[in-house]
Amino acid sequence: MDRPPKPNGQKPSTAQGRAYIIGGNTGTLAFVSSVRAENKQITAWLVPLAWTPIGVTLGENWQRVNVAADNLAGWVDQTFPPEDERSFVGSLRDLELLVRSGWSAEAPEVLTDEMLLNPEDVPEDVLDGIAHPPEPLVQCAICRRTCVRDQFAWNERQLCAWDYHSTVFGRRGPWRNAPYEERLFETIPSAAYVAGPLLAEAQVDAILSVSQLPEPLMQTLVNETIAADSSSAYLAVRTEDGMTLLRERKPLSGEQKPQ
Ligand SMILES: [Zn+2]
Repeated sequence: MDRPPKPNGQKPSTAQGRAYIIGGNTGTLAFVSSVRAENKQITAWLVPLAWTPIGVTLGENWQRVNVAADNLAGWVDQTFPPEDERSFVGSLRDLELLVRSGWSAEAPEVLTDEMLLNPEDVPEDVLDGIAHPPEPLVQCAICRRTCVRDQFAWNERQLCAWDYHSTVFGRRGPWRNAPYEERLFETIPSAAYVAGPLLAEAQVDAILSVSQLPEPLMQTLVNETIAADSSSAYLAVRTEDGMTLLRERKPLSGEQKPQ
């Protein structure tokens, strides 16, 4: 990919080669910017990670940790255990080479893919996450999974996509089988996005999705759809630029099952 030329006066190398990714797991990505030991300690940075149905997001608040320089390999094993299916580690041999050469760069304030020394060690979805701007992360109020703040809030609680879909779009969600009165449109659930695979788990179909239309028209389309068949249960969800109408799946009898 061609990169735009750097503006005059800016050294082309300042943003490059500033982070060596040591490893990662479900909740954390660890990197170093310098492997020069101070008091026999090497500084590593832990970046929080959120895995969502639409990819990986990096958090804004990094944690700084000191690792004993003579136990770097032990720390890596302990921090990124193979039992975590999302854990990965960078090349320890390359890390040792960096230690031997006394590599040191200025710690970045934001990670970008172009400053990575070892992008080949990093899984594709984590690389995609690094390519996007970081966001504030919070813990899901139900499962404690790390999630992106305000993507799925319900009754003032922060939820992950999984818990939001099963709670709000589950049996006890605000379903109805009549069109919405206008004032009710202000109270419908609001989510960053509706995730198809999670809807399937909740036995729900997204039957109408409208976006970038005037509000009254979107409301009319939603209500007309509900009015066309009031024997089903419906739930309208506000998304970033529109609305999605969900319909509860009716139990299928044997001969109606789709092929
Ligand atoms: Zn959760």
